[in-house]
This record gives sequence, C-alpha cells and structure tokens, in this order.
Amino acid sequence: MNQSWDVVIVGAGIVGAACARECASRGLKTAVVEGGVAGGGATAAGMGHIVVMDDSPAQLALTRYSQNLWAALAEQLPNDVEFERCGTLWVAVDEEEMEEVRRKQAVYAAAGVVTEILDSKALADAEPHLLRPMAGALMVPSDAVVYPPCAAAWMMREAVRAGATLCVPRNVVQAASGRVRFDDGSELCAGRIVIACGADSPRLLPEIPVRKRKGHLVITDRHPGLVRHQLVELGYLKSAHSLTANSVAFNVQPRRTGQILIGSSRQFGDDGTAVDHAILSAMLERAKLYLPEIGSCSAIRVWTGFRAATPDNVPLIGPWPDDKAIFLATGHEGLGITTSLGTARLVADALTGAETEIPVEAYLPQRFSNKLMRVRFEGASQENAAHA
Ligand SMILES: Cc1cc2nc3c(=O)[nH]c(=O)nc-3n(C[C@H](O)[C@H](O)[C@H](O)COP(=O)(O)OP(=O)(O)OC[C@H]3O[C@@H](n4cnc5c(N)ncnc54)[C@H](O)[C@@H]3O)c2cc1C
Repeated sequence: MNQSWDVVIVGAGIVGAACARECASRGLKTAVVEGGVAGGGATAAGMGHIVVMDDSPAQLALTRYSQNLWAALAEQLPNDVEFERCGTLWVAVDEEEMEEVRRKQAVYAAAGVVTEILDSKALADAEPHLLRPMAGALMVPSDAVVYPPCAAAWMMREAVRAGATLCVPRNVVQAASGRVRFDDGSELCAGRIVIACGADSPRLLPEIPVRKRKGHLVITDRHPGLVRHQLVELGYLKSAHSLTANSVAFNVQPRRTGQILIGSSRQFGDDGTAVDHAILSAMLERAKLYLPEIGSCSAIRVWTGFRAATPDNVPLIGPWPDDKAIFLATGHEGLGITTSLGTARLVADALTGAETEIPVEAYLPQRFSNKLMRVRFEGASQENAAHA
C-alpha cells in the first residue's frame, strides 16, 4: 500500500464501484477504499429502478445517458444482477394528471425517449390489479430494474479484473492535498481522490452541500403477476413544492422472485436508521389505495436507507474548487443506481482528459462554491421529487 496511485476512490457503493471499473479499464492505477462492506450503504437499501427522470434538464440528460449505458451492458450482467426491462407506468388518477402525462411525453420525446400514453382501459389491461378506474398512464418501456448490491459487486469485480485494488475495511478520516489518511494513521498518496461516500460524504468534506434524506422500503412475499411494471403515481405533483419535511408516494416494483418491493418515503431531519412506523403506515396505505390486493401480501422485511440530497437534486460530479486534487462523485439522491454508470464515465473522462458525451457544467460542484447557497440549503426542506 506504500505506493502512489493515479486515483484513490473513497467508497465502494455503486458509484465508487462504477468509477473504479471505468478508471481501471482506462489504464489508471486505481485503488478503492471502503470503510464498511462494499455495496453495503445506500446501494444495499435502494430500489434499483433504472429510470429516466425529468425534474430538470441536467437530471434528464444524466438519467437518459446512464440508462443507455445500462442497456448496452445488459447482455454482460450476471444473473444475480436481475436486470429486467419491465418498463415504468406513471399512473394518472384524473384529467389533471393526464395533462402531466402529455407534458412528460413531449419532454421525453424531445430527449429521444420512446413512450406510450395508455388510456384507462389500456392501463387496466396492462395492470389488472390496479384500482379502477384510473385515468391512464405514461408507459416508458426502456426503464428497467436491477438488484443494486449485486450490480455494485459485479462492477467491483470488473474493476479488480481490470487492475484496480480494493482495500476493505479501511475507514478514511481525512482526504486532502493528494493524501488519504486512515483511522490507524496510515496514508495513501494519489493524483486524484474521488469522494464517493454517498450520504456520508460531508464527514470528509463538511462544507459540501449534501444532506441525508431517509427512505423506507418494504419487500413482500411472493405474488407473481400482481404487478408487471414499475408503477409510480403522478399525484405527487399536486404537492410537489410543499415545504413539509416528509412525503410518501405510491411506487411499487415487481421482482424476478415474484415479490413486490414497496416504496417510497422521503424524510429530512431524521438521521436514525430505525423504522418510523407512522411513515411506514402512510406508505402502505398509499400502496393499498392504488393496489388494493397488496393488502393481502405479507411484508417480510422493512428497512431504511439514506439518499445523499443536494439543494438542486443534481449530483456533484467534478473537482471540488477548494482542493483541486479532490474530485466529487456524490449527491445522487434517489437516482444513484441509475446514474452510477453515467457518473463513472464523466469522472473517468475528466481524469483522462477525454471529451465527455454529455455536457458536464450542470454537475460541477463549483455551482455551490458560494457559501450563501449552502447555508440556504441547510435551512430548507426541499421536496421536489417523488421517485424512490
Ligand atoms: C429507499 C431508497 C430507495 C432508492 N431507490 C432508488 C432507485 O430506485 N433507483 C436509483 O437509481 N436510486 C435509488 N436510490 C438511490 C441510490 O440507492 C443511491 O443514490 C446510491 O446507492 C448511492 O450510491 P453511492 O455509491 O453514492 O453511496 P453508498 O451506496 O452509500 O456508498 C458509499 C460507500 O462509502 C463508504 N464510506 C463512507 N464514508 C467512508 C469513509 N470515510 N471511509 C471509507 N468508506 C466510506 C460507505 O461505507 C459506503 O459503502 C434509493 C435510495 C434509497 C435510500
């Protein structure tokens, strides 16, 4: 370990693992250091929905780019990654939400994403167990699901096969000026240090604008065919900019095993891992409202995890202006499984001087170098996304 590395990546969640795979495959001498279990952070807690989202042009560009990268990888992924192109149905309960369906379709079409509008009958045929009548839905056939911990483990194995070194468990207590220091006092030297610590990134860089946003998920016993697509409500838009700290939305996912993964909640200000039973009940009631039969399923596990939220719901990817040896790959909120692959490309492009395939400006951390913006984020509870 007493050697110098081109790049040391701190954190072996899906983002760190994807960055390691990309950096090592481009010939960079790469080490990944992980304080806990590789893939055991938010990656193990996430829902694994590979989804194009359009809350902002930057989010749309990165999710679309990343989804194409997942599609290109699909053939190579081992079975345990459980890649399934099940598609998403954005469910509309009334005419107001159908307006949103049409708006969304136009935005997706402009980005080259093929979608289809389902009317009430077509939706009932596609998902016979949904409450009836619904107004309709937007179908996004290219969306997919994966099992995130196995996806991250596969990326890490690929990185090691390409020459990367994984150091685990190694808890980093300081990262600055080309040096990574561990809790036993030992150090590594690197040309670049990539901070991929998810919601724990501020422990190393307290000044970065990343906050923990807690989420709950539930997995049921097996009910094959109860749900065929990832189903997400559009209704959250009615309260999209509410300033309350907590929200729940109907968001369910069919697993290959026949189990149903039920999401999702969002909470600021609760950094404990304990299940919040009020939130859990609200989530399950919401699911039952849209999918009454889910009430007869048994929940076999409930867990929580922490998204790394930024003030604008766009990740931080690029050099940190206060220390040019530090490179950020964090702040992916509820989309880090999806955007891990795009993030890794942007990181490796920057570190090797290659041209990027999408513009990077919107992701650069320098947009928050103004301290006032960071302070404002600390005081605000922002809720402008309902995806898990
Ligand atoms: C409930 C929930 C549902 C979600 N659903 C989806 C979804 O459907 N689709 C989607 O795209 N995304 C989803 N997400 C988001 C996604 O899970 C995350 O964005 C993604 O996993 C972030 O990956 P990461 O590698 O940045 O962070 P993590 O997976 O948290 O990895 C960070 C790693 O860094 C390590 N680390 C931290 N500090 C140190 C240190 N000082 N020294 C050494 N190691 C350190 C940690 O141990 C950890 O392993 C969801 C998240 C939650 C919580």
